[in-house]
Amino acid sequence: MARDFYSILGVSKTASADDIKKAFRKAAQKHHPDVSKAPDAAAKFKELNDAYQVLSDPEQRTRYDRFGEAGVGGGAGGPGAGGRGGFPGGFPGGGFSGGFSGGGDFGSVEDLFEGFFGGAARGARRTGPPPGDDLRFDMKVSFAESIRGGTREVNLDMRVACETCSGSGAAKGSGTKSCDGCGGRGEVRTVRQTLLGQMAVSAPCAKCAGEGKIIEKQCAACRGEGRFNGSKRLRVDIPPGVDDGTQIRLSGQGEAGRRGGPAGSLYVVVTVEEHPQLVRDGIDLITEIPLSISQAALGARVLIPTAEGEEELEIKPGTQPGAEIRLKGRGAPNVRRPSQRGDLRIVVAVEVPKKLSREQREALERFSRASGEDRN
Ligand SMILES: [Zn+2]
Ligand SMILES: [Zn+2]
Repeated sequence: MARDFYSILGVSKTASADDIKKAFRKAAQKHHPDVSKAPDAAAKFKELNDAYQVLSDPEQRTRYDRFGEAGVGGGAGGPGAGGRGGFPGGFPGGGFSGGFSGGGDFGSVEDLFEGFFGGAARGARRTGPPPGDDLRFDMKVSFAESIRGGTREVNLDMRVACETCSGSGAAKGSGTKSCDGCGGRGEVRTVRQTLLGQMAVSAPCAKCAGEGKIIEKQCAACRGEGRFNGSKRLRVDIPPGVDDGTQIRLSGQGEAGRRGGPAGSLYVVVTVEEHPQLVRDGIDLITEIPLSISQAALGARVLIPTAEGEEELEIKPGTQPGAEIRLKGRGAPNVRRPSQRGDLRIVVAVEVPKKLSREQREALERFSRASGEDRN
């Protein structure tokens, strides 16, 4: 059945290229299967992608306008668009650029979309072996660790480069030769009968995976793949101040590429365990402390929770309910600029007793009389 790509993207037939791009990005972020919980999110997302592939390309768009979807057969979702399978793009949560130790850097959701759709969707033909898959690893850290930072050693199952052939896939002393499946072109053309007559369709050659070259004699250890299923031990640095949902990108630490292709990236997605008494507000930490009416009126020394453990705090006489006591620099570090730290904000809650002992009642009645309150 013919699909209306304009209504899929929610744009008019006269929409500009810019409008189409904007509409796609907006819809894609909403319907991305990692974000949307709708049962048909994946199908919806694919449809969006198909529509965008066609409408973002002036030539394809013209053909689509004239002939409908049949006019762009084989164009949408062509080779390359899904080339980086397994990529977990579009995580919710924070992100930023800038490196920290271990060569990691962060990418915003925006950047991820650019990388995911931009490069591949434009159909730029890659040369050389394809890169390995990106991987996602979920890492739980304690609240205290999220503030002070730390390192973790993790073991991840993934495809790793073959040591026997250094990832080339070729047996020792063996080279490469032109692929006889495609005559070294890397793609095969077939002629298809369509509504518009004959159309030549090209697809990557299956025998050489589009590379145009095959190896003369395969490495026995990896059967010519240049990689095999193994595991990798990695050190992951947790930057001080990391927040729930932060992604850490470790480029080159994902799966090994086929036959020496570059390794993919590893995206570490951080989950911070909740603290029973402290919550984050940006780089500030907030806690609420309960005071009795006498503590609030007379002043007191109380224990408060901090990121580093419990501490004593002096409460001044006459502290009001809802008052906020701010301890400068005792919040979370700014993950981009660790020298900057937020504040610890202590919100005072004054609790009025629901039940009074006889002694407490008498004391409060005396207090009431001393305040000149008219009690019958
Ligand atoms: Zn090998
Ligand atoms: Zn070939």
